[in-house]
Amino acid sequence: MEYQKIFTEILKKMDDYKDSGSPASYIPELRDVDPDKFGVHLITNTNQNYSLGDSEEKFSIQSISKVLSLVMAYKLEDEDLWKRVGVEPSGTPFNSLVQLEYDQGIPRNPFINAGALVICDVLVEHLENPKEEFLHFVRTLSGNSSLEYCSRIAESEKLTSYRNAALINLMKDLGNIRNDIDTVLDFYFNLCSIEMTCSELARTFLFLASYGKNPITNEKFLSSSKSKRINAVMQLCGFYDEAGEFSFKVGLPGKSGVGGGIVAILPNQYSIAVWSPRLNKKGNSSKGMKFLELFTSETESSIF
Ligand code: GLN
Repeated sequence: MEYQKIFTEILKKMDDYKDSGSPASYIPELRDVDPDKFGVHLITNTNQNYSLGDSEEKFSIQSISKVLSLVMAYKLEDEDLWKRVGVEPSGTPFNSLVQLEYDQGIPRNPFINAGALVICDVLVEHLENPKEEFLHFVRTLSGNSSLEYCSRIAESEKLTSYRNAALINLMKDLGNIRNDIDTVLDFYFNLCSIEMTCSELARTFLFLASYGKNPITNEKFLSSSKSKRINAVMQLCGFYDEAGEFSFKVGLPGKSGVGGGIVAILPNQYSIAVWSPRLNKKGNSSKGMKFLELFTSETESSIF
């Protein structure tokens, strides 16, 4: 497939696309990113690579990290994990509080903030040095030992963390947080602050396009059954209250972050990462979504 040519053609088609959103402003450090950056990288499971634009520039992957923390926690807890977090689409914004009280502190899924905080609590419980061990895990998945947290962004988020503090306090009260709240929050802000380029991100997620095994190095990170389930949760919950729209228009399991990144995978074929910081009202990259919509239509490569 001539992905490179297709990238260029789609970008040209998008010249008239009115991208009216703006970068996330509730985390001060994210507000200052150049809103008109755009990058894309695709890696196939035979290690063919295609990229365009600012694909080698680092950005904050934010909630995309929630998939990697879920993978780590799922490996540690197996099916017991689902006693503390569900696998249903929430239909609510990523930072919403409303369902938690009805659901007795059990978040609907691991990708809304409440669910991701429970996953962080699980990791804090299991790991001796959660931050170091999680970073080591991400580096192993990516095959890149230079990946880092960005303390500037983590600190910036901490200063405005009223929502996440409310979520974790409510869950602590309802009995679904077992560790010290500040320790869990600090871990959560750090994992959201990891920085990657589009090419690093696409490569990191390639194992999920290949039943848990990196198809290039043959390293097995996750059982095929668990990998299938992670993809199912991405498909159903990866875009919060826009998960239906992403399925409808793009048709791939994927995950977004408020840094403007989106990663999506086509099982047995490829992993693709896009980055464009202007967000729509649901907190997902608007240009990134449009690009992926045109891409899967043009290449007939959605799972549907
Ligand atoms: N760190 C962000 C937050 O907790 C992550 C949100 C996101 O990327 N959707 O608000």
